Amino acid sequence: MKYVLDSSCFINTNSLNFEESETYTTPSVIKELKDFKSKALLNIINPEIIKPKKECLRIVKEKAKKTGDINVLSETDIEVIALGIEIEGIVVSDDFDVQNICEELRIDWRSISGTNIKKLFKREKYCPACGKKFKNTFEGNICNICGHKLKYRVVKTKKLKTKKT
Ligand SMILES: [Zn+2]
Repeated sequence: MKYVLDSSCFINTNSLNFEESETYTTPSVIKELKDFKSKALLNIINPEIIKPKKECLRIVKEKAKKTGDINVLSETDIEVIALGIEIEGIVVSDDFDVQNICEELRIDWRSISGTNIKKLFKREKYCPACGKKFKNTFEGNICNICGHKLKYRVVKTKKLKTKKT
């Protein structure tokens, strides 16, 4: 099994058992690990550090634009998911937005502390002032009717077909 580990794997736990597996992470995850405990855990697990290819980053970004997740995903999140695509690994993350986009991209994922999404969600771009709805692919951030700043809200949810353990 190949596992791609995000920052929560090192921050939210005291120990991880990946002995039988190959583990991977990205340079941006390493940068997020600042405290002694997570750095020590990094040394123990000793994952291979790979910067994902541009094509894989693009796949994730394009999907995230469509689902409205692009504004809530960090560069690190995007890198971790992209590496999941590149090496066909299982993404390990406690982040609901990461889990959600993994489902959308049909990437296998696991949580580290058992906090899993129960439903898939989609976000919608809208104007909180006049109520106009926008496509998530709409490039601007300002309402073209009333000039207010656009926001995102969760609009659609779908039950997950598979239950994660
Ligand atoms: Zn408006």
